[in-house]
Amino acid sequence: MTRLLQRPVQHEEAEPVIRLAHVTVRYNSEHVALDDVSFTLQRGERVAVVGPNGAGKSTLFKVIAGILRPTSGSADVYGHAPGGHICIAYVPQRNLVDWSFPVTVADVVMMGRVGKLGLLRWPRRRDWEIVHESLRLVGMEDMADRQIGELSGGQQQRVFIARALAQEAEVLLMDEPFTGLDMPSQEVLFGILDRLRDREVTVMVSTHDLNQAADRFDRIILLNRRLIAMGRAEEVLTEANLLAAYGGQMAMLDTEKGTLVVSDTCCSRGMDDV
Ligand code: ADP
Ligand code: MG
Repeated sequence: MTRLLQRPVQHEEAEPVIRLAHVTVRYNSEHVALDDVSFTLQRGERVAVVGPNGAGKSTLFKVIAGILRPTSGSADVYGHAPGGHICIAYVPQRNLVDWSFPVTVADVVMMGRVGKLGLLRWPRRRDWEIVHESLRLVGMEDMADRQIGELSGGQQQRVFIARALAQEAEVLLMDEPFTGLDMPSQEVLFGILDRLRDREVTVMVSTHDLNQAADRFDRIILLNRRLIAMGRAEEVLTEANLLAAYGGQMAMLDTEKGTLVVSDTCCSRGMDDV
């Protein structure tokens, strides 16, 4: 709660939207979840974070959201630690959310206004207008009064995006938003993300789908505790990098020459036409 009593942090506009410098996270003072991770993002980029289970993707999002403090190193959003920012919207992995919590869709989106409202002001008519406008943008206006737990996975993700819109977020962090969504729902989400481009919202999304990461994002971060590679798909998703990231777990990537299958449980680590 103390966070709400502080004034929102001012942005250093000359600084990158996100800058991580030598971020290391150790859980229980032993297990290293992130190891010396450094990168910067520019305003308006759409970046995919990929890597095997346990690679530290969720940990990375929590650090940037300001929920988890790095053991060493620093994470900054527009030049300041993320804690005091109201411009960061974070959508946790679905299985980390308590969906039985009795709130309506409109309530969830109004929560995005809290930073703007301050602690002691009730929502005004303008705030409700923004909530409904945000729901309209994600095609969920008709469901404003529904309980959040009644919605499908794709609808829940849209509500969280509406909350980010209501928050007037400049950074949107979505942890595995596509997991469990059917293709039409995924397309709806991408349509909404396309609109966020117009607002120059910087979007980071973790995904298990390497093809999607390659096709639909400006840059890719390949993570396995360390930052193995970052850049455009063709620079990042090389066989050597995928092996470094996935090791024994299998990764499949469609390329012009066929499907690249990476696995060190298999003897042929090359291009296989599948
Ligand atoms: P990913 O999202 O890529 O699957 P996570 O960031 O969730 O990876 O986890 C990275 C590593 O840190 C995993 O080995 C996981 O078991 C461990 N870990 C995650 N959260 C905690 C925690 N709260 N306490 C201890 N270990 C954790
Ligand atoms: Mg995760």
